Parts: sequence; structure tokens; C-alpha cells
Amino acid sequence: MTDEHYMKLALELAKSAEGQTSPNPMVGAVVVKDGQIAGMGAHLRAGEHHAEVHALNMAGDKAMDSVIYVTLEPCSHYGKTPPCADRIIEAGVKKVVIAAIDQNPIVSGKGIQRLREAGLEVVTGICRQEAESMNKVFNHFQKHRKPYVTLKTAVSLDGKIAAASGESKWITSAESRDDAHRYRHSHDAILVGIGTVLADNPSLTTRLPNGGSNPIRIILDTTLQTPIEAKLVTDSEAPTWIITGSGVSMEQILPYTEKGVRVIPLSTPSIEIESVLELLGSENITSLFVEGGSSVNGSFLQSGSIQQVIMYQAPILIGGSDAPQPFGGGGIERLKDALKLELESVERIGPDIKITASVRGG
Ligand code: NDP
Ligand code: ZN
Repeated sequence: MTDEHYMKLALELAKSAEGQTSPNPMVGAVVVKDGQIAGMGAHLRAGEHHAEVHALNMAGDKAMDSVIYVTLEPCSHYGKTPPCADRIIEAGVKKVVIAAIDQNPIVSGKGIQRLREAGLEVVTGICRQEAESMNKVFNHFQKHRKPYVTLKTAVSLDGKIAAASGESKWITSAESRDDAHRYRHSHDAILVGIGTVLADNPSLTTRLPNGGSNPIRIILDTTLQTPIEAKLVTDSEAPTWIITGSGVSMEQILPYTEKGVRVIPLSTPSIEIESVLELLGSENITSLFVEGGSSVNGSFLQSGSIQQVIMYQAPILIGGSDAPQPFGGGGIERLKDALKLELESVERIGPDIKITASVRGG
């Protein structure tokens, strides 16, 4: 078996914990001794064992003189758990194969250095691209301390997100809507504008056949107009945060706080997307799923805050110059300044098309 073969297995293990490792990366590890798999592991949750530790525990004595395949450079610092580089050295592993280098400035390159200094053979870069793209959210957060933003929108063939009347249920098929729920599960938070809350009274929970975790639900609502009887306020299904401008009073906030909703006034009268992302970053929100509507999407576009777009497009025509489009607001004036994305995939979902595109190096 080749190094790629075992690394692909380690990548599969890593991916199996998608949506549950935040703010940590997804990591997988495989220990191989004499051509046989002796141990496997994945990092499942922040604060719990790293992938290497699970795999080495499973391997037991067989870790001596083995090769360990890890999707991310082993850590070399004391975080919530002791350094994996030390554990690998102590276990007597002779060779370490690594897919991606850790982007966290505290550890980057240091884990490898430690292993080499202890006399272990270290090979890097096997399946690097796949490993890096799997942890693009983690890498983005390490670099910017702001969440990786994925904006999802559902449009008609002529690019409308609702009819001129405001009616938008449903433009796309049940299959597309089910597909979108997977992203709710894998994101730390989901965000909408007050316009969408008033129009649709959404619950923004994850509804998958086997459950799934709910993201924190965030509403941008400058003057605190969210109805106190809105599902997001009353259903207690997941935390709800309302971000407001500086002009709201304690009396206005109190009824929401009593229902367990967190109201966060910014220091400015209006809500700037940059400030929202800084705030969410400081709260360890590493990934944000933006579900519009049109005004909020437009603000994210204009502030240059989008890393990825997921568009579901249904083969229906709505027409009408007053029917809203996915990105409202003033838009970008010059074509040369348009947000340039790279297509990741184009798929058919039921009767619809799903387009996934992201900003290069986002
Ligand atoms: P939005 O959900 O975009 O909310 C807009 C409101 O959010 C603004 O009027 C503003 O109100 C508040 N807000 C606060 N901060 C900002 C900011 N920085 N930028 C922009 N808005 C901000 O509402 P829309 O009315 O534009 O869109 C709602 C429509 O879109 C509905 O018809 C809904 O059904 C549809 N929709 C369709 C989707 C689809 O994928 N097909 C998805 C989501 C919605 P204030 O000043 O009071 O704070
Ligand atoms: Zn570790």
C-alpha cells in the first residue's frame, strides 16, 4: 500500500467528525506496522483526545517502529491536552507522514522540528491539498480571527429570491432544502436580517433525518424589531443572539433576555458587517452560514466578507423588476471590482441545480 492510500483513510476519519470539532480542526490518524493497520483515530471534539492519541492508544505496543499518518502536523504545545509530538516520540514511532502543516502560528513547523530532532523520519505534503481544503474554515479563522462566511441563497432560473409580493416559500425543491440543512449542522452560527424574520418567521434549526447540531442563530436588527413571539425567540431550540445598533435601551432588551435571548448592542448606531464578524470571532464562532435576505446579502458582498457561495437554482421563472434578487443594496459599481469566485462544483439536486463557488485562498 502507498502513503496516499493510508493518508486517504486518515482524511476519511478526519472528515467523519465534520461539524463537531470547532474551534479545533478536523484531524485523522492511522498507525501502520508491518503493512497492517494497528490503530486509527479522529479528533472528535475540542478538549478531547487528538487523533494521534486515539490511534496510538489503539495500536498499543504495536506503535513501536510503526509509521503514523496524520492529516495535520502534530501539535507541539500544551493546549487542553499534552503535545502529540511528544506522545509520538514516546511511543517509539519511527516515521511520521503528514498531509498539511498547521497554520496556527503557535505550532506551525514546530511539531515537525520536534519530531526530527528526536530522530524520527518526517515526510510532509502527502494529499496536502485535500487536507488543507478540508480545514479551510479552521485556517481562515487562525489567520483572520473572524468566521469563514458561506452565503447560501435559493433562486429561480431568472435569479429571484422571492416574488414581487415577498412570497418565497418555496422556490427550490424539498431535496435542495434538505441539502442546505447539512450546512446548518456543520456551521457554528447562522445569520439572517430582521427582514427575513418578519417575512418568514424562520426557526433556522437543523432538520436532518438523523438529527444534527443546531447553529447559534443570529439576527441583524438595528432597532430591535424582532417580534417577541417569533420562533427564534420562543422555541428554545438553539441559542439566539440579536445584534443591534447602539440606540436600543435596557427596557427594550429586557423582555428578550427574560426569554433567554442574548441581545448584543454594537457601539455604533448602525450595524457594520466588519464589526459583526469581529464580534463573532471574539466569541470563537469560526464559521458563519448567511441565509439572507437580499439586504443582508448585499451588505456582506459590499463589505468583501464572503468566502463561499452556495446557490440552489430552481427551473422556474418569476420575473418582475420588483421581485428581489439575492444581493440587494448598491452592489459593486465597477465590473473589475466584482467578487471573483472559483467554481468548486455544479450538481443536480432533485429538479434543481446547486452551484458551489469560493474565493481563492479565502
Ligand atoms: P433581510 O433579511 O436582508 O433583512 C434586512 C434588514 O436587516 C434591513 O432592513 C435592516 O433592518 C437589517 N440590517 C441590520 N444590519 C444590516 C446590514 N448591515 N445590512 C443589511 N441589513 C441590515 O431582509 P430583506 O427584506 O432584504 O429580504 C427578505 C426577503 O428575502 C423575504 O421575502 C424573504 O422571504 C426572502 N428571503 C429569501 C431567501 C432565499 O434564499 N430565497 C433567503 C432569505 C430571505 P434594520 O435597519 O431595521 O436593522
Ligand atoms: Zn495534538
